[in-house]
Amino acid sequence: MPTATYYQENKEKCCEHSKTYRDKNKPLLSAVNKEYAKKNKDNINAYRKKYREKNKEKINEKIMCLCGAYISKAGMWKHLKTIRHPKALLFRNNICAKKIQRFYKSYKRLI
Ligand SMILES: [Zn+2]
Repeated sequence: MPTATYYQENKEKCCEHSKTYRDKNKPLLSAVNKEYAKKNKDNINAYRKKYREKNKEKINEKIMCLCGAYISKAGMWKHLKTIRHPKALLFRNNICAKKIQRFYKSYKRLI
């Protein structure tokens, strides 16, 4: 069993070993994980419910997307797939392009 210091010194080697182990035993690990999930379904659901309740504010926290819309972190992937996002991004970029054009026009006047 590798220790913490051994792991830090040989991180790449350990990662490579873990990756080859996972690739080699993929069907077995998948079956084990499915079995575990099946056996502990109630515990896992209770844990997830508790986590959602504990981190309600963090989950529902609104963040600003690049397009300018305010979306909760949980809904970000859904928002990125909507038509609203690219449309708003294009609109924003056009505004930026106009601002840049105005800046260059005023800059030319100064020269
Ligand atoms: Zn967006």
